[in-house]
Amino acid sequence: TTLVADVSAMLRDVPDFPKPGIVFKDITPVLADPRLFGRVINAMAAPFRGQHITKVVGVEARGFLLGAPIALALHAGFVPARKPGKLPYKSVVEKYSLEYGADGLEMHEDALHKGERVLIVDDVLATGGTAEATSRLVKKLGGELVGYSFLIHLAFLDGVKRLGPDKVTSLLSF
Ligand code: 5GP
Repeated sequence: TTLVADVSAMLRDVPDFPKPGIVFKDITPVLADPRLFGRVINAMAAPFRGQHITKVVGVEARGFLLGAPIALALHAGFVPARKPGKLPYKSVVEKYSLEYGADGLEMHEDALHKGERVLIVDDVLATGGTAEATSRLVKKLGGELVGYSFLIHLAFLDGVKRLGPDKVTSLLSF
């Protein structure tokens, strides 16, 4: 069986979460299966092997769960992009709008060295607002954005166009 089929079979659609009208893709069954989790990490890292990624930036919170093992797979460091007020040290912030509301993201001001080659990781690409704000943080800190790796991409929301199609990879598309 293919990885795409196996992941599709394990994803859970949760209607009306976190708001009425939103169908939330629940990835926790995928993470709970050790073999499938490993195959997902390997596949999400694969397009970026040999690209000299030095830091993986994972977006709170599910981007941490996928980003940290992808960082290890690529022999790169891991950097969290967090919701405002969560990081302990001096941080830079970017605001963004979401499929369901508005928010901000922060990174530590010294999280990247100038010219570091960065991969941004998250579970789901919807409108692209979250990933775009993360890319602005990466640029603010002097990083060079190599690309984005998502598990799932919601094609009807045009997020790929917003981020630049040449930079986006995702395992599944709905
Ligand atoms: P965007 O900013 O692209 O509109 O939304 C993407 C962000 O919202 C990601 O951080 C992602 O984790 C979260 N998100 C949006 N929709 C879903 C969904 O259906 N399932 C999951 N797991 N996350 C979602």
